[in-house]
Amino acid sequence: MSQIEKAIQDIKKNIQEAQKSSFAAKDVLLLAVTKTVDPVRINEAVACGITAVGENRVQELEKKFDQVEKGVSWHLIGHLQTNKVKYIVDKVALIHSLDSISLAKEINKRSGQAGRRMPVLVQVNVADEDTKFGIAPKETMDFIKEVSVMPNIHIQGLMTIGPFVSEPEEVRPIFRCLRELRDEVSSQGLSGVDMNYLSMGMTNDYQVAVEEGANIIRVGSAIFGQRSV
Ligand SMILES: *Cc1c(COP(=O)(O)O)cnc(C)c1O
Repeated sequence: MSQIEKAIQDIKKNIQEAQKSSFAAKDVLLLAVTKTVDPVRINEAVACGITAVGENRVQELEKKFDQVEKGVSWHLIGHLQTNKVKYIVDKVALIHSLDSISLAKEINKRSGQAGRRMPVLVQVNVADEDTKFGIAPKETMDFIKEVSVMPNIHIQGLMTIGPFVSEPEEVRPIFRCLRELRDEVSSQGLSGVDMNYLSMGMTNDYQVAVEEGANIIRVGSAIFGQRSV
């Protein structure tokens, strides 16, 4: 068995274990984060059952797009600059990182031109770290209301990046907060808004994230090994 195959099997086992928690989702998507990973190894992961990949840079996504098996869905998980939206609007299945009204306007415009309604997640800066992009939790509801009237954007959930700490348990309150925020938004029943996805958890903390209700986890190094850059 290859290293990648073994890693994916281990992660899937850990997901199942974490799904015993009462808050856990029934279906959890393992999104393979492929930044810095070459297309050959990405395709190896696809052969082992990976169906969706996440890139955090537009340029890298564009470069690899045609070299990866068709049928794989591409997710943009990193900060998206307004002037780059046009390059990905026909390529991605989900944008995880909607974090400003100006970006929403551009996605709305470009998606309209491409004849599609773009699925997006709102990135929330739960940990309130200066170094991170994202909407503050207390501003999230108003932000979602404002975006919800844009016809070519479909808000489908929330995303957060946990703080980098050595002990994954420390991130639990952050994930819990995002789940509660999701429930609060859901309860508003806003038209055109669906809270289908909670994207949270990475290599260091995905088990805790699944226990707290994540249904998309973004895992890179646990699949492909440490990144050198
Ligand atoms: C790199 C990255 C990940 C994956 O990180 P790992 O620790 O390698 O699993 C997840 N989410 C985002 C937004 C990233 O940039």
